[in-house]
Amino acid sequence: MGNIIQNEQFKERLQELLQNKKFKRTLKIIYKENQKQLLSVQSCQIIDQPTLQQYLDLKKGIPFVQEHQCKILLDIEEKKRYCYFCTLCPKKVKRDRGNSFCPRCNQQTQSKLDYCLVVKIVDAISEDTQNTHKAIMFKEIAKDYLEIEAIDFSNKSHDSQNKYFKIINDQKSHIVHLLKLEYKLQNENFIINKILPIIKE
Ligand SMILES: [Zn+2]
Repeated sequence: MGNIIQNEQFKERLQELLQNKKFKRTLKIIYKENQKQLLSVQSCQIIDQPTLQQYLDLKKGIPFVQEHQCKILLDIEEKKRYCYFCTLCPKKVKRDRGNSFCPRCNQQTQSKLDYCLVVKIVDAISEDTQNTHKAIMFKEIAKDYLEIEAIDFSNKSHDSQNKYFKIINDQKSHIVHLLKLEYKLQNENFIINKILPIIKE
């Protein structure tokens, strides 16, 4: 019956293969499993994976969600790092002299400072390393990536924030992540909805 390997191990190996820079392609595998054991591979197909720019050209004018391999670069030139959110809904609020107005709740509400961090993402599928796009990381996603609470980060001076960015860039900017991206038309940039398990290069 050939080699039976644990399904988890199979998925892990497959993930490694897909994230390997030498394979700028997607492998589509249909397999049978029983009680978490791989029984047989039924088909195997290589699909060329478009770059983010090709997705943008393809989906012109349509918002879309896409998982894509990218590196993340924190941008010290970028001023958008955190903002205030309504505590009753996930919407950003406008603050005026300590008062917060939520456009969704359509009333004065309480607000809480959290991340709306604009970063650069570098397409790992594209051969062109200059091929970057703007993306926003909100709340938990940014907190997990920066490993610091928004309130603590916002209390740092601009200079120490930039130093902090440089440290994180040194540690993480070479890592290829699988990002769950949502493309929004309003601002013409991506939202990073999830950073999926990573493999170091
Ligand atoms: Zn609200």
